[in-house]
Amino acid sequence: QAKAAGRNAMHFFEASMQIQLESRAALEKELRHALAKDELQLYYQLQVNNKRRIIGAEVLLRWINPERGFISPAQFIPLAEETGLILPIGQWVLETACQQLKRWEAAPETRYLQLAVNVSARQFRQADFAKRVQETLKMTGVNPALLKLELTESLVLVNVEDTIQKMNELKNVGVQFSMDDFGTGYSSLSYLKRLPLSQIKVDQSFVRDIVIDKSDAVIVKTIIDMSKNFGLDVIAEGVETEEQLEILQNNGCSAFQGYLFSKPVPAKEFESLVKSAAGNKPDRPNQFIG
Ligand code: C2E
Ligand code: MG
Ligand code: MG
Ligand code: MG
Repeated sequence: QAKAAGRNAMHFFEASMQIQLESRAALEKELRHALAKDELQLYYQLQVNNKRRIIGAEVLLRWINPERGFISPAQFIPLAEETGLILPIGQWVLETACQQLKRWEAAPETRYLQLAVNVSARQFRQADFAKRVQETLKMTGVNPALLKLELTESLVLVNVEDTIQKMNELKNVGVQFSMDDFGTGYSSLSYLKRLPLSQIKVDQSFVRDIVIDKSDAVIVKTIIDMSKNFGLDVIAEGVETEEQLEILQNNGCSAFQGYLFSKPVPAKEFESLVKSAAGNKPDRPNQFIG
């Protein structure tokens, strides 16, 4: 009986593998057409400073498919990476974000907002990556200082010399860099010192339990202190509660992003958030929404 159960489990396993393979192939085919069919959208999640003023946003990609509905980037970004589809998609994200920045530059209440764009490894490793970014900035007429590129530890460590060279080329024209998901990878301090970063982004996994887990709180404090010693800004992602915010602030963190402030929203909604914040009286600096 145990054997039969084992065989059934095996069949079940094979069947589910088969489904996975089929749906993966189907997903890949659909992703190929998602760009052309206008199914990709950019959402914007606001970032605030210590006074809860909106300082910018992170650009987060969304795939809205008529049959499948909403597909999470956690599902399709890895697939896009493997298939190389991340190259046209990443370029589209960059261009669309820059066009949005250009429009926001034209209005007084949005003109200083920075946008942070996620860059994937395959995209960054293109020989002409730095040139592409500069061309996109020129084509859209955006002030490069308003663009921040988010890189991950695993990305930068693959070929540190190449990474530094590309980052420097872009830094020289004013583009900024943030180290995303910091603390989850294997960055050594010596690399961190050599990279021309302007910001460290504390990974949300450390923020999640910061109120109840002493060691997470210690890790976050260490990251913040170290970043400050290197002259880097620190932003915490995944901030969901006032308690988390308070601990982060007490430990010297100066910028924040998370559901406590806003979920990622379409551009129009983001503009409303900025406008209602701008309408607030200066004597109510903590009431940036509503
Ligand atoms: P990430 O860059 O670390 O982005 C932060 C993720 O945390 C986003 O998930 C965001 O929606 C989510 N988040 C924000 N605030 C909170 C919070 O308070 N609590 C919790 N639990 N989560 C929060 P999302 O949008 O699903 O994106 C997942 C990942 O997909 C991103 O992680 C990034 O690595 C990748 N990604 C998204 N857009 C792009 C893109 O345009 N290009 C590339 N290459 N990757 C992208
Ligand atoms: Mg990011
Ligand atoms: Mg992150
Ligand atoms: Mg993350």
